[in-house]
Amino acid sequence: PARRIHQMFAPWVRARPDAVALDDGSVTLSYTELDRAVNEAAQVLAGLGVRPGDRVLLVAENCVALCVSILAISALDAWSATVNARLSSREIANYIEHSGARRALYFDRVSLEAGQHAQHFGAEPVAFPLVGPISVGPLADAVPEPLFEAADEQVAALVYTSGTTGAAKAVMLTHANLMFVGENTRRMRNMVPEDVVYGVLPLSHVYGLSSLLSATLISGARLLLVSRFQPDHMARAIATQGVSVLHGVPAMYARLTDWVGRNPEGFEAPRLRVAQAGGSPLTAPVKEGFERVFGITLNNGYGMTETSPSICQTRMDPPRTDCSVGQPIPGIEVKLYDEEGAAGGAEGVGELCVRGPNVMKGYYRAPEQTAATFLPGGWLRTGDLARIEPDGAVFIVGRAKELIIRSGFNVYPAEVEQVLNAFPAVMQSAVVGRDVESNEEVIAFVEAVEECEIDMAALQAHLRENLSPYKIPARIVVAHLPAAPSGKILKAELRRMAAILDG
Ligand code: ATP
Ligand code: MG
Repeated sequence: PARRIHQMFAPWVRARPDAVALDDGSVTLSYTELDRAVNEAAQVLAGLGVRPGDRVLLVAENCVALCVSILAISALDAWSATVNARLSSREIANYIEHSGARRALYFDRVSLEAGQHAQHFGAEPVAFPLVGPISVGPLADAVPEPLFEAADEQVAALVYTSGTTGAAKAVMLTHANLMFVGENTRRMRNMVPEDVVYGVLPLSHVYGLSSLLSATLISGARLLLVSRFQPDHMARAIATQGVSVLHGVPAMYARLTDWVGRNPEGFEAPRLRVAQAGGSPLTAPVKEGFERVFGITLNNGYGMTETSPSICQTRMDPPRTDCSVGQPIPGIEVKLYDEEGAAGGAEGVGELCVRGPNVMKGYYRAPEQTAATFLPGGWLRTGDLARIEPDGAVFIVGRAKELIIRSGFNVYPAEVEQVLNAFPAVMQSAVVGRDVESNEEVIAFVEAVEECEIDMAALQAHLRENLSPYKIPARIVVAHLPAAPSGKILKAELRRMAAILDG
C-alpha cells in the first residue's frame, strides 16, 4: 500500500494507463502521463536544490501543474505549502518567511496574480515536462533545518488555516493524515474510476487537498481543476462534461442553485450523483433549494484544517433531511468537553474533541500553541461547540470563541445567522458580539441578494417571530461581507468593525 501521497495513484497507472487523471482546460494528463510528469518534476526540483525535509511554497490557483508539483515535492520527501495567489505580496512575503521555504514556485500560466508575485520576488521560468514552464523564485540558503522523518510520520503538506478567528495557523499534515481522509472520502462516497470530480475548492485549503486531489487519485477518477468559482461554469460542466461529484462550501451551492434556477433552459445533470458541502454551516434553505433543483441529496461534512479535515460526514443511505454534520467518520473518536469538567455542559452542549489518524502532527514552529490545543490522551480541541444525538449525529452550534453571552444567556451566532439567512432578501449574514459596559451585544452584518433591497422593518418582524428577545441583534448592518479565498467569512474582521460602530 502507498505510504506517501505521490504513490497513491500507482495502481491506476497499471490498471487505467490512458484514463484522464487531471484536466484544467489547457493541460490534460492521463494516469501514465501524471506518473511521468511527477517523476520528472521531482528531478527538476532536486536540480533546483530542494532537499528532503525542505519546505516549498506554491503560490497558486488550481491547475494541473500545481497538482504535479505537490506530488513531486512528496516524491522528494519535502513539504509543500500551497497558498492562494490572490493574497497580497506582503502576505506572500510573510508565508515565504514563516514556512522557511527553500524555493517558491509561482503558477503564472493560470493566475495573473501569481505572475505579478513572480515578478515581485524575482522568479524565473523553468521548464517542467508535460505541464510547461513554472516560475521559480531564488534559492534561499538561510532556511530552518530540513525536517525529515520515516514513512507515515513525515509531513506531506503545510496547510494554513482560514484565519477566520485570527491569524492563520500553519498545520503540519502527514502523508498518513491526507491518505486516511482521501480513502475515507472514496469509501463513503462510493467513488469509482468513472467519476468526474469538479475541483473548484482551492487546493491551498485542506478540503481541496484531501477531498478533491487525494480522493480522486485514490479512486482512479478524473479531476477537473477550476481556478475560480463561477456558477455558470459549474452548471455548464455538470451539463456537458459528465461531472458526477461536487464538493463545495454552502455559499457555492447557494449561488449555483440560484443560477440554475434563473437559467433552467437546457440545463441537465446527466451523471451527477454526489454533492458534498462542508467548511461552514449548511442551512435548511440552501440544502432544500439545491435538492429541489438537482434532485439529489446535499450531504454535509464537518472538519478543520487540523484534522485533514474530515471529522463527521453524513451517510448517503439513508439520506439526512436536517442540517446535522453527520456521524464521526469510521476510525476516529469524538467526545464533548467542557471547561468545568462535565461531559457536555448546559443544554448538552460542549466543545467537540477528536482523536484519530486524521489529527495533525502539530502547528509548525509553535510548540506551545500545539500543546494548548491538545487535552491529555491525544484529544484535539476543535474550538467548536456541539451536541450529539443518541444516534451519534453531531450538530455544530457554533465556535466557542464566537459564543456571545448576553445578560447571562448564551447566544449562538449560527442560530441567529440561520434565521437571518431564511429571510428572502438576505444572501448571507454574520453575527458577532461586541462588548458594551461589561455585557455583550449581538451585532448582525447582512448582505443583500443581488439587486434586492432589505426591508428592515420586515426583517425585524421576522426576527421577533423566530428568536427569543435576548438573541435579537441590537444592530443590523448591511455590508459586503469580507471573505477568505476559500469563501469563508472573516469574522475577526467583522468583530473589529463591530467594535468601532458608533452608538
Ligand atoms: P482559523 O482556525 O484560522 O480561525 P478556520 O477555523 O475557519 O480558521 P478552517 O480549518 O478552514 O479554518 O475551518 C474549520 C472550521 O470551520 C471548523 O472549526 C468549524 O468552525 C467550521 N466548519 C467546518 N465545516 C463545518 C460545517 N459543516 N458546519 C459548521 N461549521 C463548519
Ligand atoms: Mg480553526
